[in-house]
Amino acid sequence: MSIDDRKFQVFSKQHLEILPQLQKLTPDHRLAMRAVAEVLPFRVNNYVLEELIDWDNVPNDPVFQLTFPQPGMLAREDFGLLCGMLKRNAPAAELAAEVKRIRYSLNPHPAGQKSLNVPHENGQPLAGMQHKYRETVLFFPMAGQTCHAYCTYCFRWPQFVGLDDMKFASKEAAGLVEYLRAHKEVTSVLITGGDPMIMRTQLLRQYVEPLLGPGLEHVASIRFGTKAPAYWPYRFTHGEDADDLMRLIGEIRAAGKDAAIMAHFSVLRELQTDVAQAAVKRLVSAGATVRTQAPLIRHVNDNADNWAQMWRKQVSLGAIPYYMFIERDTGARGYFEVPLWRAYMIFTEAYRQVTGLARTVRGPSMSCTPGKVLISGVVEVKGEKAFVLKMLQGRDPAWVNQVFFAKYDQRATWMDQLKPAFGEREFFFEEGMRQMLESGEARVWLPTEVDALEETWRMESVEPDHEHDRKLDQ
Ligand SMILES: *Cc1c(COP(=O)(O)O)cnc(C)c1O
Repeated sequence: MSIDDRKFQVFSKQHLEILPQLQKLTPDHRLAMRAVAEVLPFRVNNYVLEELIDWDNVPNDPVFQLTFPQPGMLAREDFGLLCGMLKRNAPAAELAAEVKRIRYSLNPHPAGQKSLNVPHENGQPLAGMQHKYRETVLFFPMAGQTCHAYCTYCFRWPQFVGLDDMKFASKEAAGLVEYLRAHKEVTSVLITGGDPMIMRTQLLRQYVEPLLGPGLEHVASIRFGTKAPAYWPYRFTHGEDADDLMRLIGEIRAAGKDAAIMAHFSVLRELQTDVAQAAVKRLVSAGATVRTQAPLIRHVNDNADNWAQMWRKQVSLGAIPYYMFIERDTGARGYFEVPLWRAYMIFTEAYRQVTGLARTVRGPSMSCTPGKVLISGVVEVKGEKAFVLKMLQGRDPAWVNQVFFAKYDQRATWMDQLKPAFGEREFFFEEGMRQMLESGEARVWLPTEVDALEETWRMESVEPDHEHDRKLDQ
């Protein structure tokens, strides 16, 4: 088939028994995949099936691991239970109850996603927004809350299985515009999901164009978090809709703003097809900056060469390596997690292989409740081994770029398992974090307008100091 007439076809749980590519697996293996797909979301498309997965290398193929449910993703007991239920055709209600129990055991809402990050106005949560770091607001358009294919490790998995209702997504940009007008400290809007590139450009435009108007000059960049360049690159290369997207990027640029595609690339294969390369190049030609990021995932991309090759390829296509993340503490984390020391080793080994042009990448980084924490190194000081950590982003802007230390721990895979090193009782941000949790207010900065107001108020309320003035007159 020529790539020009490829139509988007999507496959999910009910196709696991009938996909021709899966027929070479044993019936038990297919049953195992169905059992996992009862709990975790599964969705692939024809491009992922035909171009990205090497079926001679299944089940080890990294894209197969990235997209298809794997037996090891559930706890052994839960997995055995579900397989048994499927085998004996257990009643739907009985199955649903177990599935629900297992889903809630998988820490569906890590890092204060739903409580601390959502801004409020008059006590009401603002639909479709998260504002965790002063400079950047995340926006979730309603129609952008799915993807061209699902990553098995996705931290947003609860919304794809209906565990989260979509109340937190927004149907229109009006609320966002109003919020941004009142928050001059925000310089960047990150449109995310799901994948906003699942939307047709006409719809995407309804969210983007209001951000280009007057009163929002302080918003210097509009970012799009997307895996479409990896999972459905035709979105950027073929058809009228792709042309229209390039025009929209042109409009963002003409309004004096950066149009940034935050492209999620996990494995080299995703960058090797002609159409994926054409997609990145076309975005760059249209005036977008393409920045790349992905989490480090066992079974998928836990080797240094993959990262070094990806970063080199990205730079050669005009993209800018941005973040390597640590897999979050949710979902099938037991299957995917990489110990922090190993993540640091893999990053370092990859980083050493590339020139400074690709060393724009930062990592490995953990997006946890207080902020983005970089594993910056491992040191030994007077016999005590420690991780050197650095806050890349913080809920409190005063935390940013601070270095701190945690006891070296070979088993640790996430921040909550780390303890302060060198006799410290707690990490430097913990006191502030407690205050935020107690007050329920995670925004410790003041919008610029409020700062200005406060200044005026201070001047008005200062009592004239006649005594002082008299002294000056003498
Ligand atoms: C990473 C992230 C951002 C953006 O941070 P940058 O360092 O500016 O890329 C914004 N909000 C949240 C919640 C994030 O996790």
